[in-house]
Amino acid sequence: MNDNTPVIDVRGLRKHFADVEVLKGIDFQVSRGKTVSVLGSSGSGKSTMLRCINWLEQPDGGSIHISGERIGIRKDGRTPMSNRELARMRARTAMVFQGFNLWPHLTVLGNVIEAPIHVQGVSREEAVSRARTLLDKVGMSHKVDAYPWTLSGGQKQRVAIARALAMNPEVILFDEPTSALDPELVGEVQSVMRALAEDGFTMVIVTHEMDFARAISDEVVFIDKGVIVERAEPEKFFTTPDTDRVRQFLSRYG
Ligand code: ADP
Ligand code: MG
Repeated sequence: MNDNTPVIDVRGLRKHFADVEVLKGIDFQVSRGKTVSVLGSSGSGKSTMLRCINWLEQPDGGSIHISGERIGIRKDGRTPMSNRELARMRARTAMVFQGFNLWPHLTVLGNVIEAPIHVQGVSREEAVSRARTLLDKVGMSHKVDAYPWTLSGGQKQRVAIARALAMNPEVILFDEPTSALDPELVGEVQSVMRALAEDGFTMVIVTHEMDFARAISDEVVFIDKGVIVERAEPEKFFTTPDTDRVRQFLSRYG
């Protein structure tokens, strides 16, 4: 692997559910340190693409490499990875969901140290120390002992981001991270994400927040009916898109 190897390299990705072809040959690359936003109407295949990258869904065709290493299939090109091999690969692409998915029976600190200790075998002491640093980074160090049900949605999502970072992922995949939040809580989560982008984290963000996508992204990718129809720098995408499909999409958010 060299510095030019993309962190994410998706080639010819196909996925169907029953008789519906949801992803029809997706090519998608993300370079190290870049933030790429994925836009598109509901049902266009955005979540399915992220879930395939993380192997939460098994693709029907194509390949996905994480920093040059193929996920899901062993080096022989046909044997499926064991659960253990998959867990190790998955940890490299942390995911942050719309619904937070915090463990309700664990404190904030407990949520952040759980996977490093039990999946990565990090010592409790080291996991706690790292968790405190990360919770500080997302502005949640005053809530280490709180339980999720006592937190606002914005606070929960910031804890979920700290939990994702705790695995030391090479890329964070965000699936509509602010869609479940009350409008007044969206900003606090977006500013944490902006700080991560400035710190040089590699991020993929599925979002419907157009101003946010325009401000944070190095590149915008537009998916329609399982096909990437446009990719561009944000200024170009939002001011002079190439396709009628994108113009039509943007006019609904104008
Ligand atoms: P998006 O995230 O862009 O809204 P999705 O990737 O969630 O789109 O869904 C794309 C299409 O795939 C939709 O038609 C959806 O109903 C279908 N789909 C997604 N997941 C499943 C599933 N597990 N089983 C059957 N159909 C699914
Ligand atoms: Mg979705």
